Amino acid sequence: MFKKLLIANRGEIACRVIKTARRLGIATVALYSDADRAALHVSLADEAIHIGPAPARESYLVIDKIIAAATYCGADAIHPGYGFLSENADFARACHSAGIKFIGPPIAAIEAMGSKAAAKHIMAEAGVPLVPGYHGDDQSPALLHQAADDMGYPVLLKATAGGGGKGMREVWSTEEFESALAAAKREASASFGDDRMLVEKYLTKPRHVEVQVFCDNHGNSVYLAERDCSVQRRHQKVIEEAPAPGISAELRKAMGETAVQAARAIDYSGAGTVEFLLDEDGHFYFMEMNTRLQVEHPVTEMITGQDLVEWQLLVASGAELPLRQNEIRLQGHAFEARVYAEDPANDFLPATGTLSFLQAPQESAHVRVDTGVRQGDEISVYYDPMIAKLIVWDESRERALQRLSQALRNYHIGGTTTNLEFLYQLSSSRPFQAAELDTGFITRHSAELF
Ligand code: ADP
Repeated sequence: MFKKLLIANRGEIACRVIKTARRLGIATVALYSDADRAALHVSLADEAIHIGPAPARESYLVIDKIIAAATYCGADAIHPGYGFLSENADFARACHSAGIKFIGPPIAAIEAMGSKAAAKHIMAEAGVPLVPGYHGDDQSPALLHQAADDMGYPVLLKATAGGGGKGMREVWSTEEFESALAAAKREASASFGDDRMLVEKYLTKPRHVEVQVFCDNHGNSVYLAERDCSVQRRHQKVIEEAPAPGISAELRKAMGETAVQAARAIDYSGAGTVEFLLDEDGHFYFMEMNTRLQVEHPVTEMITGQDLVEWQLLVASGAELPLRQNEIRLQGHAFEARVYAEDPANDFLPATGTLSFLQAPQESAHVRVDTGVRQGDEISVYYDPMIAKLIVWDESRERALQRLSQALRNYHIGGTTTNLEFLYQLSSSRPFQAAELDTGFITRHSAELF
Protein backbone atom coordinates (compact mmCIF):
# COMPACT_ATOMS: atom_id res chain seq x y z
CA MET A 1 0.00 0.00 0.00
CA PHE A 2 1.06 3.61 -0.53
CA LYS A 3 2.87 5.47 2.22
CA LYS A 4 2.00 9.03 1.35
CA LEU A 5 -0.99 10.24 -0.66
CA LEU A 6 -1.30 13.70 -2.15
CA ILE A 7 -4.85 14.86 -2.81
CA ALA A 8 -5.01 17.10 -5.85
CA ASN A 9 -8.34 18.60 -4.96
CA ARG A 10 -10.19 20.64 -2.34
CA GLY A 11 -13.52 20.75 -0.53
CA GLU A 12 -15.58 17.77 0.51
CA ILE A 13 -13.91 15.25 -1.77
CA ALA A 14 -10.45 16.10 -0.44
CA CYS A 15 -11.80 15.58 3.10
CA ARG A 16 -13.52 12.37 2.04
CA VAL A 17 -10.32 10.89 0.57
CA ILE A 18 -8.24 11.93 3.59
CA LYS A 19 -10.66 10.11 5.89
CA THR A 20 -10.14 6.75 4.19
CA ALA A 21 -6.40 7.23 3.76
CA ARG A 22 -6.08 7.95 7.47
CA ARG A 23 -8.04 4.82 8.35
CA LEU A 24 -5.67 2.81 6.17
CA GLY A 25 -2.61 4.36 7.82
CA ILE A 26 -1.54 6.34 4.76
CA ALA A 27 -0.05 9.80 5.36
CA THR A 28 -1.91 12.59 3.53
CA VAL A 29 -0.86 15.80 1.85
CA ALA A 30 -3.34 18.56 1.00
CA LEU A 31 -2.89 21.32 -1.56
CA TYR A 32 -4.34 24.77 -1.12
CA SER A 33 -4.76 28.02 -2.97
CA ASP A 34 -4.74 31.49 -1.42
CA ALA A 35 -8.50 31.19 -0.87
CA ASP A 36 -8.14 27.87 0.95
CA ARG A 37 -5.40 28.66 3.49
CA ALA A 38 -7.71 27.88 6.38
CA ALA A 39 -9.88 25.30 4.63
CA LEU A 40 -11.05 22.12 6.33
CA HIS A 41 -9.15 19.79 3.99
CA VAL A 42 -5.93 21.58 4.94
CA SER A 43 -6.47 21.06 8.65
CA LEU A 44 -7.39 17.40 8.20
CA ALA A 45 -4.28 16.46 6.23
CA ASP A 46 -0.94 15.58 7.78
CA GLU A 47 0.84 18.10 5.55
CA ALA A 48 -0.31 20.91 3.30
CA ILE A 49 1.36 22.69 0.41
CA HIS A 50 0.43 26.06 -1.06
CA ILE A 51 0.11 26.01 -4.83
CA GLY A 52 -0.94 29.49 -5.87
CA PRO A 53 -3.70 32.06 -6.25
CA ALA A 54 -7.41 31.40 -5.78
CA PRO A 55 -8.44 30.88 -9.42
CA ALA A 56 -8.23 27.15 -10.13
CA ARG A 57 -6.52 27.87 -13.44
CA GLU A 58 -3.57 29.20 -11.44
CA SER A 59 -3.56 26.55 -8.71
CA TYR A 60 -5.62 23.33 -8.67
CA LEU A 61 -5.39 23.01 -12.45
CA VAL A 62 -1.66 23.60 -12.85
CA ILE A 63 -0.13 20.20 -13.52
CA ASP A 64 3.50 21.27 -13.03
CA LYS A 65 2.84 22.80 -9.64
CA ILE A 66 1.03 19.72 -8.41
CA ILE A 67 3.73 17.34 -9.61
CA ALA A 68 6.40 19.59 -8.04
CA ALA A 69 4.51 19.54 -4.74
CA ALA A 70 4.14 15.76 -4.84
CA THR A 71 7.82 15.28 -5.61
CA TYR A 72 8.85 17.75 -2.91
CA CYS A 73 6.87 15.99 -0.17
CA GLY A 74 7.72 12.49 -1.36
CA ALA A 75 4.17 11.35 -2.14
CA ASP A 76 4.00 7.98 -3.86
CA ALA A 77 0.42 8.42 -5.10
CA ILE A 78 -1.98 11.19 -6.13
CA HIS A 79 -5.75 11.07 -5.77
CA PRO A 80 -7.37 13.57 -8.15
CA GLY A 81 -10.89 13.50 -6.62
CA TYR A 82 -13.53 14.56 -9.17
CA GLY A 83 -13.55 17.64 -11.38
CA PHE A 84 -10.29 19.60 -11.79
CA LEU A 85 -7.65 17.24 -13.28
CA SER A 86 -9.40 13.97 -12.49
CA GLU A 87 -10.11 13.15 -16.14
CA ASN A 88 -7.10 14.86 -17.64
CA ALA A 89 -4.88 12.38 -19.48
CA ASP A 90 -1.93 14.81 -19.48
CA PHE A 91 -2.07 14.92 -15.72
CA ALA A 92 -2.13 11.13 -15.44
CA ARG A 93 0.82 11.05 -17.84
CA ALA A 94 2.74 13.63 -15.80
CA CYS A 95 2.19 11.58 -12.63
CA HIS A 96 3.45 8.52 -14.42
CA SER A 97 6.56 10.31 -15.71
CA ALA A 98 7.33 11.54 -12.20
CA GLY A 99 7.09 7.99 -10.88
CA ILE A 100 3.98 8.75 -8.84
CA LYS A 101 0.89 6.54 -9.00
CA PHE A 102 -2.18 8.28 -10.42
CA ILE A 103 -5.25 6.90 -8.63
CA GLY A 104 -7.37 6.34 -11.70
CA PRO A 105 -7.63 4.27 -14.86
CA PRO A 106 -4.93 3.80 -17.49
CA ILE A 107 -4.13 6.90 -19.57
CA ALA A 108 -5.55 5.29 -22.71
CA ALA A 109 -8.91 4.72 -21.00
CA ILE A 110 -9.12 8.36 -19.92
CA GLU A 111 -8.32 9.44 -23.45
CA ALA A 112 -10.79 7.03 -24.99
CA MET A 113 -13.67 8.35 -22.87
CA GLY A 114 -12.56 12.00 -22.95
CA SER A 115 -14.47 12.67 -26.13
CA LYS A 116 -18.16 11.77 -26.11
CA ALA A 117 -17.95 11.10 -29.85
CA ALA A 118 -14.92 8.80 -29.67
CA ALA A 119 -16.50 7.04 -26.70
CA LYS A 120 -19.63 6.32 -28.71
CA HIS A 121 -17.55 4.84 -31.54
CA ILE A 122 -15.76 2.51 -29.14
CA MET A 123 -18.96 1.49 -27.39
CA ALA A 124 -20.73 0.80 -30.68
CA GLU A 125 -17.85 -1.55 -31.58
CA ALA A 126 -18.18 -3.24 -28.21
CA GLY A 127 -21.87 -3.89 -28.78
CA VAL A 128 -23.10 -1.43 -26.16
CA PRO A 129 -26.45 0.18 -27.10
CA LEU A 130 -26.12 3.92 -27.83
CA VAL A 131 -28.47 6.87 -27.78
CA PRO A 132 -29.25 7.15 -31.51
CA GLY A 133 -27.47 10.04 -33.16
CA TYR A 134 -24.63 11.41 -35.20
CA HIS A 135 -21.12 11.31 -33.73
CA GLY A 136 -18.99 11.61 -36.83
CA ASP A 137 -15.89 13.67 -37.57
CA ASP A 138 -17.42 15.74 -40.35
CA GLN A 139 -18.62 18.83 -38.57
CA SER A 140 -20.00 20.88 -41.45
CA PRO A 141 -23.16 22.68 -40.27
CA ALA A 142 -25.16 21.47 -43.26
CA LEU A 143 -24.31 17.87 -42.48
CA LEU A 144 -25.20 18.22 -38.80
CA HIS A 145 -28.48 19.86 -39.81
CA GLN A 146 -29.25 17.05 -42.22
CA ALA A 147 -28.49 14.48 -39.52
CA ALA A 148 -30.96 16.21 -37.22
CA ASP A 149 -33.64 16.38 -39.93
CA ASP A 150 -33.17 12.68 -40.69
CA MET A 151 -33.37 11.75 -37.01
CA GLY A 152 -36.50 13.81 -36.46
CA TYR A 153 -37.00 16.44 -33.78
CA PRO A 154 -36.45 17.00 -30.93
CA VAL A 155 -32.70 16.50 -31.00
CA LEU A 156 -30.00 17.38 -28.50
CA LEU A 157 -26.80 19.11 -29.53
CA LYS A 158 -23.94 18.14 -27.26
CA ALA A 159 -20.33 19.27 -27.07
CA THR A 160 -18.03 16.36 -27.84
CA ALA A 161 -15.67 17.63 -25.16
CA GLY A 162 -18.59 18.45 -22.86
CA GLY A 163 -19.21 18.10 -19.18
CA GLY A 164 -21.24 19.79 -16.50
CA GLY A 165 -24.19 20.22 -18.84
CA LYS A 166 -22.34 22.92 -20.80
CA GLY A 167 -22.54 23.23 -24.57
CA MET A 168 -25.88 21.42 -24.68
CA ARG A 169 -28.98 22.62 -26.55
CA GLU A 170 -32.33 21.04 -27.20
CA VAL A 171 -33.63 21.69 -30.70
CA TRP A 172 -37.32 21.24 -31.32
CA SER A 173 -37.62 22.06 -35.03
CA THR A 174 -35.54 22.43 -38.18
CA GLU A 175 -36.10 26.22 -38.13
CA GLU A 176 -34.35 26.50 -34.78
CA PHE A 177 -31.40 24.32 -35.72
CA GLU A 178 -28.97 26.87 -37.10
CA SER A 179 -29.18 29.34 -34.25
CA ALA A 180 -29.11 26.55 -31.64
CA LEU A 181 -25.98 25.10 -33.24
CA ALA A 182 -24.26 28.49 -33.20
CA ALA A 183 -25.17 29.03 -29.55
CA ALA A 184 -24.04 25.54 -28.48
CA LYS A 185 -20.75 25.95 -30.37
CA ARG A 186 -20.11 29.32 -28.73
CA GLU A 187 -20.66 27.86 -25.28
CA ALA A 188 -18.56 24.77 -26.00
CA SER A 189 -15.78 26.89 -27.35
CA ALA A 190 -15.78 29.13 -24.29
CA SER A 191 -15.94 26.22 -21.82
CA PHE A 192 -13.74 23.60 -23.47
CA GLY A 193 -11.84 25.35 -26.26
CA ASP A 194 -13.40 22.80 -28.60
CA ASP A 195 -16.67 23.41 -30.44
CA ARG A 196 -17.21 20.00 -32.02
CA MET A 197 -20.75 18.72 -31.62
CA LEU A 198 -22.66 15.52 -31.62
CA VAL A 199 -26.33 15.31 -32.40
CA GLU A 200 -28.50 12.93 -30.42
CA LYS A 201 -32.11 12.01 -30.52
CA TYR A 202 -33.56 13.93 -27.58
CA LEU A 203 -35.38 11.39 -25.44
CA THR A 204 -38.34 13.15 -23.90
CA LYS A 205 -38.95 11.28 -20.68
CA PRO A 206 -35.81 9.32 -19.88
CA ARG A 207 -34.35 8.40 -16.55
CA HIS A 208 -30.66 8.90 -15.91
CA VAL A 209 -29.47 5.60 -14.49
CA GLU A 210 -25.75 4.98 -14.06
CA VAL A 211 -23.79 1.92 -13.09
CA GLN A 212 -20.81 1.90 -10.77
CA VAL A 213 -18.12 -0.38 -12.12
CA PHE A 214 -14.77 -1.42 -10.71
CA CYS A 215 -11.95 -3.30 -12.40
CA ASP A 216 -8.57 -4.43 -11.12
CA ASN A 217 -5.36 -5.28 -12.96
CA HIS A 218 -5.87 -9.02 -12.55
CA GLY A 219 -8.78 -9.37 -14.96
CA ASN A 220 -11.56 -8.95 -12.40
CA SER A 221 -14.43 -6.56 -12.98
CA VAL A 222 -17.69 -6.02 -11.11
CA TYR A 223 -20.67 -3.68 -11.03
CA LEU A 224 -21.98 -2.28 -7.77
CA ALA A 225 -25.59 -1.76 -8.76
CA GLU A 226 -26.90 1.50 -10.12
CA ARG A 227 -27.85 5.02 -9.10
CA ASP A 228 -30.83 6.97 -10.31
CA CYS A 229 -29.81 10.56 -10.95
CA SER A 230 -32.89 11.67 -12.87
CA VAL A 231 -33.75 14.62 -10.67
CA GLN A 232 -31.78 17.36 -12.37
CA ARG A 233 -31.71 21.06 -12.94
CA ARG A 234 -29.98 22.42 -16.04
CA HIS A 235 -28.91 18.82 -16.82
CA GLN A 236 -27.11 18.65 -13.45
CA LYS A 237 -27.91 16.23 -10.66
CA VAL A 238 -29.79 17.41 -7.56
CA ILE A 239 -30.81 14.26 -5.68
CA GLU A 240 -29.41 10.81 -6.39
CA GLU A 241 -30.51 7.47 -5.03
CA ALA A 242 -29.48 3.84 -5.00
CA PRO A 243 -30.73 1.41 -6.00
CA ALA A 244 -32.81 2.91 -8.81
CA PRO A 245 -36.46 2.41 -7.86
CA GLY A 246 -38.53 -0.02 -9.89
CA ILE A 247 -35.58 -1.71 -11.61
CA SER A 248 -36.08 -5.45 -11.86
CA ALA A 249 -33.29 -7.86 -10.98
CA GLU A 250 -33.03 -8.77 -14.68
CA LEU A 251 -32.68 -5.16 -15.80
CA ARG A 252 -30.11 -4.50 -13.05
CA LYS A 253 -28.10 -7.45 -14.27
CA ALA A 254 -28.41 -6.43 -17.92
CA MET A 255 -27.31 -2.87 -17.24
CA GLY A 256 -24.55 -4.01 -14.91
CA GLU A 257 -23.16 -6.53 -17.36
CA THR A 258 -23.33 -4.01 -20.20
CA ALA A 259 -21.45 -1.49 -18.07
CA VAL A 260 -18.76 -4.04 -17.31
CA GLN A 261 -18.56 -4.86 -21.01
CA ALA A 262 -18.07 -1.14 -21.70
CA ALA A 263 -15.27 -0.95 -19.14
CA ARG A 264 -13.58 -4.08 -20.49
CA ALA A 265 -13.67 -2.63 -23.99
CA ILE A 266 -11.19 0.01 -22.87
CA ASP A 267 -9.10 -2.20 -20.54
CA TYR A 268 -10.34 -0.28 -17.57
CA SER A 269 -9.04 -0.36 -14.05
CA GLY A 270 -10.26 1.37 -10.89
CA ALA A 271 -13.58 3.14 -10.35
CA GLY A 272 -15.73 4.12 -13.29
CA THR A 273 -19.31 5.06 -13.97
CA VAL A 274 -21.23 4.15 -17.08
CA GLU A 275 -24.14 6.53 -17.60
CA PHE A 276 -27.26 5.34 -19.38
CA LEU A 277 -30.54 6.87 -20.35
CA LEU A 278 -33.40 4.50 -19.60
CA ASP A 279 -36.64 4.94 -21.51
CA GLU A 280 -40.15 4.09 -20.40
CA ASP A 281 -40.03 0.73 -22.17
CA GLY A 282 -36.98 -0.39 -20.23
CA HIS A 283 -34.49 0.16 -23.08
CA PHE A 284 -31.22 1.65 -21.96
CA TYR A 285 -28.67 3.57 -23.99
CA PHE A 286 -25.04 4.45 -23.29
CA MET A 287 -24.48 8.17 -22.80
CA GLU A 288 -20.94 8.45 -21.49
CA MET A 289 -18.44 6.92 -19.13
CA ASN A 290 -16.85 8.93 -16.33
CA THR A 291 -13.36 7.72 -15.55
CA ARG A 292 -13.22 8.86 -11.93
CA LEU A 293 -15.04 8.66 -8.64
CA GLN A 294 -18.44 10.37 -8.91
CA VAL A 295 -19.84 13.01 -6.57
CA GLU A 296 -22.69 10.64 -5.78
CA HIS A 297 -20.56 7.57 -4.93
CA PRO A 298 -21.74 7.60 -1.26
CA VAL A 299 -25.19 6.22 -2.09
CA THR A 300 -23.50 3.17 -3.56
CA GLU A 301 -21.33 2.87 -0.44
CA MET A 302 -24.40 3.00 1.78
CA ILE A 303 -26.23 0.15 0.05
CA THR A 304 -23.16 -2.07 -0.43
CA GLY A 305 -21.37 -1.36 2.85
CA GLN A 306 -18.14 -0.76 0.90
CA ASP A 307 -15.67 2.14 0.90
CA LEU A 308 -15.06 3.00 -2.74
CA VAL A 309 -12.04 5.19 -2.01
CA GLU A 310 -10.47 2.20 -0.28
CA TRP A 311 -11.23 0.10 -3.35
CA GLN A 312 -9.54 2.72 -5.53
CA LEU A 313 -6.44 2.71 -3.36
CA LEU A 314 -6.33 -1.09 -3.28
CA VAL A 315 -6.64 -1.43 -7.04
CA ALA A 316 -4.05 1.29 -7.69
CA SER A 317 -1.62 -0.43 -5.33
CA GLY A 318 -1.94 -3.62 -7.36
CA ALA A 319 -4.31 -5.61 -5.16
CA GLU A 320 -7.28 -7.60 -6.43
CA LEU A 321 -10.84 -6.30 -6.05
CA PRO A 322 -12.05 -7.02 -2.49
CA LEU A 323 -15.23 -8.77 -3.72
CA ARG A 324 -16.40 -10.89 -6.63
CA GLN A 325 -19.71 -10.13 -8.32
CA ASN A 326 -21.60 -12.83 -6.40
CA GLU A 327 -20.28 -11.46 -3.10
CA ILE A 328 -21.73 -7.99 -3.60
CA ARG A 329 -24.90 -7.63 -1.56
CA LEU A 330 -27.33 -4.74 -1.67
CA GLN A 331 -29.10 -3.64 1.44
CA GLY A 332 -31.70 -0.94 1.91
CA HIS A 333 -31.96 2.35 0.12
CA ALA A 334 -29.89 5.53 0.10
CA PHE A 335 -30.38 9.12 -1.04
CA GLU A 336 -27.93 11.94 -1.54
CA ALA A 337 -29.04 15.56 -1.67
CA ARG A 338 -26.56 18.14 -2.90
CA VAL A 339 -26.73 21.14 -0.62
CA TYR A 340 -25.73 24.17 -2.68
CA ALA A 341 -25.24 27.87 -2.18
CA GLU A 342 -27.62 28.82 -4.95
CA ASP A 343 -30.98 30.42 -5.56
CA PRO A 344 -33.59 27.94 -6.81
CA ALA A 345 -36.06 30.79 -7.38
CA ASN A 346 -33.61 32.52 -9.68
CA ASP A 347 -32.75 29.75 -12.13
CA PHE A 348 -30.44 28.13 -9.54
CA LEU A 349 -27.95 30.96 -9.84
CA PRO A 350 -24.84 30.23 -7.73
CA ALA A 351 -24.64 32.25 -4.51
CA THR A 352 -21.68 33.33 -2.39
CA GLY A 353 -21.25 34.43 1.20
CA THR A 354 -19.69 33.68 4.54
CA LEU A 355 -21.31 30.79 6.39
CA SER A 356 -22.18 32.79 9.48
CA PHE A 357 -24.19 29.89 10.87
CA LEU A 358 -23.81 26.21 10.01
CA GLN A 359 -25.57 23.39 11.76
CA ALA A 360 -25.70 20.06 10.00
CA PRO A 361 -27.99 17.24 11.15
CA GLN A 362 -26.53 14.76 13.63
CA GLU A 363 -24.56 12.02 11.86
CA SER A 364 -25.47 8.40 12.62
CA ALA A 365 -25.73 5.01 10.96
CA HIS A 366 -28.57 6.58 8.96
CA VAL A 367 -27.24 10.05 8.25
CA ARG A 368 -23.91 11.05 6.73
CA VAL A 369 -22.73 14.53 5.88
CA ASP A 370 -19.80 14.89 3.48
CA THR A 371 -18.61 18.46 3.57
CA GLY A 372 -15.52 20.58 3.15
CA VAL A 373 -16.63 23.65 5.06
CA ARG A 374 -17.17 24.83 8.64
CA GLN A 375 -19.04 27.71 10.18
CA GLY A 376 -17.23 30.93 9.30
CA ASP A 377 -15.90 29.64 5.97
CA GLU A 378 -16.62 31.45 2.77
CA ILE A 379 -18.41 30.17 -0.30
CA SER A 380 -16.47 32.11 -2.93
CA VAL A 381 -16.89 32.74 -6.61
CA TYR A 382 -13.81 30.69 -7.34
CA TYR A 383 -15.11 27.16 -6.88
CA ASP A 384 -18.19 25.02 -7.15
CA PRO A 385 -20.71 26.34 -4.60
CA MET A 386 -21.59 22.94 -3.13
CA ILE A 387 -21.73 23.20 0.68
CA ALA A 388 -22.29 19.54 1.51
CA LYS A 389 -23.71 16.24 0.44
CA LEU A 390 -26.39 14.96 2.75
CA ILE A 391 -26.61 11.18 2.55
CA VAL A 392 -29.23 9.03 4.27
CA TRP A 393 -29.86 5.32 4.44
CA ASP A 394 -32.65 3.06 5.66
CA GLU A 395 -34.14 -0.36 5.03
CA SER A 396 -36.72 0.87 2.51
CA ARG A 397 -37.03 3.77 0.07
CA GLU A 398 -39.97 5.13 1.99
CA ARG A 399 -38.12 5.20 5.29
CA ALA A 400 -34.95 6.56 3.74
CA LEU A 401 -36.98 9.36 2.20
CA GLN A 402 -38.49 10.20 5.59
CA ARG A 403 -34.95 10.37 6.95
CA LEU A 404 -33.97 12.70 4.13
CA SER A 405 -36.84 15.12 4.77
CA GLN A 406 -36.16 15.06 8.48
CA ALA A 407 -32.44 15.66 8.05
CA LEU A 408 -33.10 18.54 5.65
CA ARG A 409 -35.37 20.08 8.29
CA ASN A 410 -32.48 19.81 10.76
CA TYR A 411 -30.00 21.50 8.45
CA HIS A 412 -29.48 25.19 9.18
CA ILE A 413 -27.28 27.47 7.16
CA GLY A 414 -26.96 31.23 7.53
CA GLY A 415 -24.98 33.77 5.55
CA THR A 416 -25.82 32.66 2.05
CA THR A 417 -28.83 31.63 -0.02
CA THR A 418 -29.14 27.84 -0.20
CA ASN A 419 -31.31 25.24 -1.88
CA LEU A 420 -32.25 23.57 1.46
CA GLU A 421 -35.92 24.55 1.37
CA PHE A 422 -36.15 23.49 -2.28
CA LEU A 423 -34.60 20.10 -1.45
CA TYR A 424 -37.08 19.70 1.37
CA GLN A 425 -40.05 20.48 -0.87
CA LEU A 426 -38.66 18.05 -3.42
CA SER A 427 -38.10 15.21 -0.96
CA SER A 428 -41.53 15.62 0.60
CA SER A 429 -43.44 16.00 -2.67
CA ARG A 430 -45.92 13.32 -3.65
CA PRO A 431 -44.47 12.53 -7.11
CA PHE A 432 -40.99 12.10 -5.65
CA GLN A 433 -42.35 9.84 -2.95
CA ALA A 434 -44.11 7.88 -5.69
CA ALA A 435 -40.77 7.67 -7.56
CA GLU A 436 -42.25 9.17 -10.72
CA LEU A 437 -38.75 9.92 -11.90
CA ASP A 438 -37.45 11.23 -15.18
CA THR A 439 -35.08 14.02 -16.12
CA GLY A 440 -37.98 16.46 -16.62
CA PHE A 441 -39.09 16.05 -12.99
CA ILE A 442 -38.15 19.49 -11.67
CA THR A 443 -39.45 21.42 -14.68
CA ARG A 444 -42.72 19.51 -14.69
CA HIS A 445 -43.36 20.03 -10.98
CA SER A 446 -41.94 23.53 -10.66
CA ALA A 447 -45.30 24.96 -9.59
CA GLU A 448 -45.36 22.76 -6.46
CA LEU A 449 -41.64 22.95 -5.71
CA PHE A 450 -40.86 26.66 -5.68
P1 ADP B 1 -22.51 16.29 -19.20
O1 ADP B 1 -21.30 15.44 -19.42
O2 ADP B 1 -22.38 17.70 -19.69
O3 ADP B 1 -23.05 16.21 -17.80
P2 ADP B 1 -24.28 14.21 -20.21
O4 ADP B 1 -24.05 13.62 -21.54
O5 ADP B 1 -23.83 13.42 -19.03
O6 ADP B 1 -23.63 15.69 -20.16
O7 ADP B 1 -25.81 14.56 -20.03
C1 ADP B 1 -26.28 15.27 -18.91
C2 ADP B 1 -27.78 15.13 -18.80
O8 ADP B 1 -28.44 15.62 -19.97
C3 ADP B 1 -28.28 13.70 -18.67
O9 ADP B 1 -28.23 13.24 -17.36
C4 ADP B 1 -29.69 13.81 -19.19
O10 ADP B 1 -30.55 14.35 -18.20
C5 ADP B 1 -29.57 14.82 -20.29
N1 ADP B 1 -29.37 14.17 -21.60
C6 ADP B 1 -28.21 13.85 -22.18
N2 ADP B 1 -28.40 13.26 -23.39
C7 ADP B 1 -29.73 13.23 -23.58
C8 ADP B 1 -30.57 12.75 -24.64
N3 ADP B 1 -30.07 12.23 -25.76
N4 ADP B 1 -31.91 12.88 -24.47
C9 ADP B 1 -32.43 13.43 -23.36
N5 ADP B 1 -31.69 13.90 -22.35
C10 ADP B 1 -30.35 13.80 -22.43
